[in-house]
Amino acid sequence: MKLHKKFTAGLLACVSLSQFWSGAAGADAPAGSPVDAAVVKVTPKVVAWRRDIHQHPELSNREVRTSKLVADHLRSLGIEVTTGVAHTGVVGILRGGQPGRVVALRADMDALPVTEQTDVPFASKVRGKFNGQDVGVMHACGHDAHTAMLMGAAEVLAGMRKDLHGTVKFIFQPAEEGPPTGERGGAALMVEEGVLGAPVQPSAIFGIHVWPGEPGTISYRPRGQMAAADSLTIVVKGVQTHGAQPWHGVDPVIVSAQIMTALQVIPSRQLNITSAPAVVTIGSIHGGVRGNIVPDQVEMKGTIRTFEPEMREDFLKRIRRTAEMVAQSSGATAEVTVEPYAPVTYNDPQLTNQLLPSLRRAAGDDKVRDMLPVMGSEDFSHYTRVVPGLYVFLGINKEGVPTGQAAENHSPQFYVNEDALPVGVRALTFVALDYLNEPRS
Ligand SMILES: [Zn+2]
Ligand SMILES: [Zn+2]
Repeated sequence: MKLHKKFTAGLLACVSLSQFWSGAAGADAPAGSPVDAAVVKVTPKVVAWRRDIHQHPELSNREVRTSKLVADHLRSLGIEVTTGVAHTGVVGILRGGQPGRVVALRADMDALPVTEQTDVPFASKVRGKFNGQDVGVMHACGHDAHTAMLMGAAEVLAGMRKDLHGTVKFIFQPAEEGPPTGERGGAALMVEEGVLGAPVQPSAIFGIHVWPGEPGTISYRPRGQMAAADSLTIVVKGVQTHGAQPWHGVDPVIVSAQIMTALQVIPSRQLNITSAPAVVTIGSIHGGVRGNIVPDQVEMKGTIRTFEPEMREDFLKRIRRTAEMVAQSSGATAEVTVEPYAPVTYNDPQLTNQLLPSLRRAAGDDKVRDMLPVMGSEDFSHYTRVVPGLYVFLGINKEGVPTGQAAENHSPQFYVNEDALPVGVRALTFVALDYLNEPRS
């Protein structure tokens, strides 16, 4: 998850886990069902994998150790494994004993250039190089939890392979946070390399992201769940002159200020924001070398967030027109460049409806909630452009810490409450089983 913006766990945590989620199992999944029993059994392993991965985080496109851990585990379960997909990605195919459809489950594996500031005993001390800079490396977005939960779900599902109707494709993806400069990677490259194609082609995909919500809750939104993100660059060109006599030149600094202000008028006065939110932010502006020189050029960089393709197109046109015309009114020019970053993460409404009961079985009826759209983006969106998908959030706050007070994803204090991990394993497992068991028309 990209927003472009403590736990002293011991073995005791594992003991408390079964109490936590057997009580939250829901009426359809009484404690003692085969899935329950299997998740109870695998949970200590999930916690151990998560801590191991947390202590050995790897940056985007460098997930060598993590992907080996995943591949070895999948092979040990008798799952067909392909490695080296989109650099370090791992794809597993579990063929059930009964005929049926194909469902994909996805986890991301990469860590962030963040120096960890938690006091968990397995805190990362790892340092690495990111775009040439020496950085601390931390699983500050919870992808360690995603990977461990999917490894757990793979073990549970492999244990019931004989009765499985259809096939489960496990996608362990590198570089969700974006590859280093000059490299390609992430979901877009996995799709390009055919992860959603032969030999088995999924007709639906499911994924989970952890976030600082009430522990063990699952939050979802039909249709647009997370925003489309586009990177914006505007280069304003004027004519350099002395700062004391600006009329002898064309001042790109003042024109940039006018453009910045004018851009904010678009969402507030020109877009119908009752249908979907839209945001444009200029986060960087550079121009000039000293106070008494009007420079010849200013460069602004920003981000554009939208939820609907038509509104996005309209917004981009208006941004371009506004920047160009405002510049023209002063005799300057503005070059606008937009680079698509991620499409909208779209939850297929029918699939969402169909799988809600599975989520309720996983978390408990009162722990599955709808949510507001999230303006952050997620490269899971590249899969949902190809097949219908469902992407949900799993709350992992410390017990009793209100959502607004917990460290956000990407914070050096980001914290995962491991009591919520079995809920994620259950959600992945139930969604796969229920989707495959759904009568096909
Ligand atoms: Zn993230
Ligand atoms: Zn993330």
